[in-house]
Amino acid sequence: MSPLVRRLTPSEIEAYDLIPEHISERVILVRVPLLPGPYSGMTLGPVVLLARTIRPEAPQPLLAHELVHVRQYHEMGVPLFAWRYNRAFVKGLLQFRSWNKAYRAIPAEQEARSLAADWRRRRAAAAATSALG
Ligand SMILES: [Zn+2]
Repeated sequence: MSPLVRRLTPSEIEAYDLIPEHISERVILVRVPLLPGPYSGMTLGPVVLLARTIRPEAPQPLLAHELVHVRQYHEMGVPLFAWRYNRAFVKGLLQFRSWNKAYRAIPAEQEARSLAADWRRRRAAAAATSALG
């Protein structure tokens, strides 16, 4: 049973190489029973909330996605990131009249999805290469 609040382990910091180590070292991972709506992960600054159904011990594209948000917060600062994120979301809501489309159109979400997908593909390719041994 892993603790409910913890830092990333050294092997996780190495595995989630899609953000710089000095940023992943600051991450505080919190396991929560549930999150609002359909979400299984949520990030505020260096704090990543993960639903308890997600196993961070396994390579986890969701955690990779949330770590991109940690990097975005780190680069912009919490107030500016939160402002830009929410402004893009409201703009999307007005434009699309759809919660899901507005969420998917947020630039920070697009970057997180794209980098997490690249990370997943790189890991799958590396695993296939080592399986060929
Ligand atoms: Zn996201």
